[in-house]
Amino acid sequence: LAHRHRNLRELFDVSLTWGDRDYLVTEDRRISFAEHAVAAGALATALARRYDVGKGDRIGIYAANTPEWVIAFWAAQCLGAVAVGYNAWWTPREIAYGLEHTTPTVVIADAKRAARLADSGTGVPVLTMEQDLPALIAEYVGDIPRAEIAEDDPAVVLYTSGTTGRPKGVVHSHRNLVAVSDYHRFTDALMASFTGQPLDGPSDRRYLVTLPLFHIASLHNLVVPRLATGAAAVFPHGAFDVDRVLRLIEQERVTNWAAVPTMASRLLEHDLSGYDLSSLNALSLNSAPSSPGLQDRLRDKLSGVQVALTTSYGQTESGTAATVATPLELAADLECVGRPIIGVTVEIRDPFGAALPDGEEGEICIRSPYVMLGYWNDDAATAATIDAERWLRTGDFGTIVDGRLRISGRRTDLILRGGENVYPTEVEYALEEHPAVHESVVLGVEHPDLGQEVAAVIVADPGTVTADELRAFAAERLAYFKVPARWRITAEPLPRNASGKVVRRDVEP
Ligand code: ATP
Repeated sequence: LAHRHRNLRELFDVSLTWGDRDYLVTEDRRISFAEHAVAAGALATALARRYDVGKGDRIGIYAANTPEWVIAFWAAQCLGAVAVGYNAWWTPREIAYGLEHTTPTVVIADAKRAARLADSGTGVPVLTMEQDLPALIAEYVGDIPRAEIAEDDPAVVLYTSGTTGRPKGVVHSHRNLVAVSDYHRFTDALMASFTGQPLDGPSDRRYLVTLPLFHIASLHNLVVPRLATGAAAVFPHGAFDVDRVLRLIEQERVTNWAAVPTMASRLLEHDLSGYDLSSLNALSLNSAPSSPGLQDRLRDKLSGVQVALTTSYGQTESGTAATVATPLELAADLECVGRPIIGVTVEIRDPFGAALPDGEEGEICIRSPYVMLGYWNDDAATAATIDAERWLRTGDFGTIVDGRLRISGRRTDLILRGGENVYPTEVEYALEEHPAVHESVVLGVEHPDLGQEVAAVIVADPGTVTADELRAFAAERLAYFKVPARWRITAEPLPRNASGKVVRRDVEP
């Protein structure tokens, strides 16, 4: 299982060996590895001949999840070009910023985003997925370009969702993505070994993709490694809808689902009795804190299905999950995010960069072959985030106890209340133990004496709980200074970004 490919173009060749096996499956389409390779090769040829796209040039992708998104990504890799995954929720103004920032030679967009690009006032050539791509692919079928690519050449730019400021373009190299693929090849082989299948054969896993492809959790973890393992990626259409997703799990015999905690809370409100979920054997909760309360309720809800519940922690900059918590580790500590995955070293550091002993809280720093090259066109931000030995400063705070990482929260979310520090996550976890609380957000609001005080926004069904009840509930679990002083209970959904994460700065306290 050792590393065999030096770049994504070499990995692409592997896909030819998987032939007619499913690669990209949607509710109404089924594209095999062979069909995908033909389409991506033809598109790459068209981009080179018609638009003069060459090595290092950027190819923008601005679309909802479709097979064409993936085809465009791999066409870029055949040319040694850089695929830029723009956030499909971006408005004309935001996409104008993205285009100015990464200056693509051409943008491949779905019809809805193509219209938005027309409104953005930029002159970049746009190819639509619905009309232009099928025509170009039909015209150039037959050839698959092969560029000379070095391991440290950039392969992709993904933007951080910008929950803490302006989005930054995170650059991952071929080396980063091949390493992520190798990790998945290893875990898929491990799963195969449990069922007695050959270690190096194609994997029978089927992965559900419910997050946008411009998000690392989908592209790096679900879609790219499948070329190395021969497994399928299954995409529901449209915005997240529990019924649709469950029907697709049943119909396509999905085995693995990587979800975000918000999706899990929607699952809790849904009647599961009408679905056959027996194929599902792994459900991971990623990208945001999942409170022990939520995990317990989810385990109860899924008690009839043999599914392993795991959590993981990572960020766009870290390239893939940095730590994963297996069911065993969660049984030992429901608040942990597990241990570093193969290849990752995690250290907790003080503000001066010195490593701290176990149990002490500090900044989580990560070193691994998956960590980004840097930020696109921003040497100052890169230097502030990655040091000379390639340690990544995550901006998250946490502790390591018995080898397991616990996240306290983000530096930027910390509430400074009269000399005491309050991490919103800890308070949210406590509040989400209350059965009436669907979700909660804890924020710092200005206070004349204390600097900041703690405010809570609670999502609950109308009339099911009062602020006084919640205050008493919190006071039993938290030190006095962490108990929210201001409360707002609402049935309205919280403001979220494209990956389902709460945009804290848009929450009304
Ligand atoms: P930006 O970096 O611009 O604010 P973002 O928060 O959406 O955008 P991502 O890279 O998608 O950027 O998110 C990574 C962050 O999410 C981590 O740094 C961490 O704060 C948080 N996170 C991810 N997984 C977990 C987890 N299991 N528990 C707690 N927090 C998590």
